[in-house]
Amino acid sequence: RFISFEGIDGSGKSTQARLLTDALRARGQSVVLTREPGGSPGAEEIRRLVLEGNPDRWSAETELLLFTAARRDHLEKTIRPALARDETVITDRFADSTRMYQGISRGDLAAVVDQLHRLMIGVEPDLTLLIDIDPEVGLSRAVARQGAEQRFEDMGLDLQRRMRAGFLALAAAHPGRFRVIDGARDPQAVAADVLAAVTGG
Ligand code: C5P
Repeated sequence: RFISFEGIDGSGKSTQARLLTDALRARGQSVVLTREPGGSPGAEEIRRLVLEGNPDRWSAETELLLFTAARRDHLEKTIRPALARDETVITDRFADSTRMYQGISRGDLAAVVDQLHRLMIGVEPDLTLLIDIDPEVGLSRAVARQGAEQRFEDMGLDLQRRMRAGFLALAAAHPGRFRVIDGARDPQAVAADVLAAVTGG
């Protein structure tokens, strides 16, 4: 099974991806925990190219191509092989992040994002857990983390608000794939809802 976590910066998705991985492993499942951008050696190199250094280095279009290239490598090298071994794949971000970050935040690239996805990726997770949080709460959490803070502040609260709304709209448009989880609670309470969404259907 292929499961993704999505949400704005500081939503707690990485913590939840780890807690779900631990919980499923404790139940005897084979789980590959991975992340984007990154998740394979090549994609981690691309992550460094995109996230480190001068943020103006790439145009919006080039950044989209780099994220797509990273996702393609992640799919080929990590996700597909694990699914072929019948393992559960849990990824911290997938294509919905590109729909939001590159599709909303950097110009009107939404149509190109969808076309590239169809051409080069073509798969969606079986289940997407959207960890929903108020951007101001997310910001106060992200501030505690190196790197995320800068990126967050580059984007600004207003953009994070638009992305939160965009994620919720995406979830509403695909109710079969998405579960929206209230992320503004302590991690264990959020994790309990996540586990129920995954095991309870
Ligand atoms: O989820 P994580 O914190 O590892 O993501 C690193 C940064 O990459 C985030 O701050 C996010 O803003 C950015 N990002 C992006 N476009 C994506 C995925 C992540 O700009 N498609």
